[in-house]
Amino acid sequence: MTADLEARLRAASLRVTRPRLAVLAALRDHPHVDTDTVIALVRSDLPTVSHQAVYDVLRALTEAGLVRRIQPGRSTARYEARVGDNHHHVVCRSCGVIADVDCAVGHVPCLTASDDHGFVVDEAEVVYWGTCPDCAADRISQ
Ligand SMILES: [Zn+2]
Ligand SMILES: [Zn+2]
Ligand SMILES: [Zn+2]
Repeated sequence: MTADLEARLRAASLRVTRPRLAVLAALRDHPHVDTDTVIALVRSDLPTVSHQAVYDVLRALTEAGLVRRIQPGRSTARYEARVGDNHHHVVCRSCGVIADVDCAVGHVPCLTASDDHGFVVDEAEVVYWGTCPDCAADRISQ
């Protein structure tokens, strides 16, 4: 199951290492997790890997475009391995859970600014905020 992840690293001209593969696998299986969760997931695979090693891997993978870093509102940074499709996120205001929303357009920038002030706009950051089904159900039952 790591052949695909190895190919992604090679396509980005990154050396294939076990920590890099472990981080990519963790993010493939657990999208939108924060750094501490990535460390815990990677350590279940590679118990001796250091915090710093995971930070370094996350930075290298993000810079290479293999991992996307998102930070909706004031929440801590989250990471995901689903990249390149300009998808958006819906975030629960109550519990912070995040789900993917496919972009209707599929490429950046998917919204045209009413006035771009002469800027060359290359991205529109779209975050949908609301209440997730679990929190909505809790509210009704209280
Ligand atoms: Zn919620
Ligand atoms: Zn996502
Ligand atoms: Zn969009």
